[in-house]
Amino acid sequence: MSETLDLIKMTSDAASEFEIALGSVRANPTPDAVEALRLLFIGRKGKVTLLMEGLRHASKEQRPIAGKTINTLKQQIEEAMSSLKEASANWALDEKLKQTPLDISLPIDHMAPQGSLHPVSLMRRELLREFRRLGFSVFDGPEADFDFYNFSALNIPEYHPARDMQDTFYLREQPNLLLRTHTSNIQIHCMLNERPPLRIVAPGRVFRCDSDPTHTPMFHQIEAFVVDKNISFGHMKGVIDSFMKAIFGSSMKTRLRPSFFPFVEPGAEMDLQCVQCSGKGCRLCKNTGWLEVGGCGMIHPNVFESVDYDTDTWSGFAFGFGIDRMAMLKYKLTDLRPMFEGSYSYLGQFSRYT
Ligand SMILES: [Zn+2]
Repeated sequence: MSETLDLIKMTSDAASEFEIALGSVRANPTPDAVEALRLLFIGRKGKVTLLMEGLRHASKEQRPIAGKTINTLKQQIEEAMSSLKEASANWALDEKLKQTPLDISLPIDHMAPQGSLHPVSLMRRELLREFRRLGFSVFDGPEADFDFYNFSALNIPEYHPARDMQDTFYLREQPNLLLRTHTSNIQIHCMLNERPPLRIVAPGRVFRCDSDPTHTPMFHQIEAFVVDKNISFGHMKGVIDSFMKAIFGSSMKTRLRPSFFPFVEPGAEMDLQCVQCSGKGCRLCKNTGWLEVGGCGMIHPNVFESVDYDTDTWSGFAFGFGIDRMAMLKYKLTDLRPMFEGSYSYLGQFSRYT
């Protein structure tokens, strides 16, 4: 009986002790202080744990009364500890924030420099936007391709002198495989996979063994082609002219000059009025007032035959030009090579166009 009374008295003492300790830990709930409080009362050797163990010595009749008192205290302590843990997590977060202060009054210059899109990406994005507006869909093709798609199917048979017009990188392992010299290989892939009518634009990287201020071994081309019934040279001229006006402004003039490309007949070179002197004549245009930007023409019947299109039903045109060259003209750049050297100061200039 007396042991039971002792237990109840000790439980009451432990409850008061816990109240006092809780008050001081609550004022400054560091994780260490919270853990120490827990160990002191409900840890393996804590005051309340020892009281529970003391129950063994209580008489059978009194054990339930003492047990209930101790258990009630244990539950109260557990509840208090759980809310204290939350307070402790908040305290830890506050401490962390105090260590790494954010100064929102700092000028914006102190922040990391902002990146910008590459001029080729900017130009490509703008070109595709205009092509989509004219109803063209984008089609992609492989950069390493078979001779058939890059040459033979485009009316450039083996030993044809036209192959010398483009210095080709062949892959050593597979002599039949090469890095495409133009995006026209996409024309063949597309025509073999889709049925006309087609209105396709195909942008991509192309490769030629060449390097000087206006040529790099890798560059970007974009090619557009249309296949439908009754397509004429006039349609092509109209599309090219309205396209260039959309990119360079409504006063831009274009012209076509007869030229030879094996995959078109008739073929032509596309010229833009000089972007620097507006046609008056300057060093950039070699005093002609015009800049050559690409090639175009009516798709050759032999090309249609290689993809099994009926030339009595279908006709079409294609035109292509360099995206990098277009970016040079649009952003008034004189040398093509720095575009691919990755210099931050050079590429950073284009952030205002992004
Ligand atoms: Zn000029």
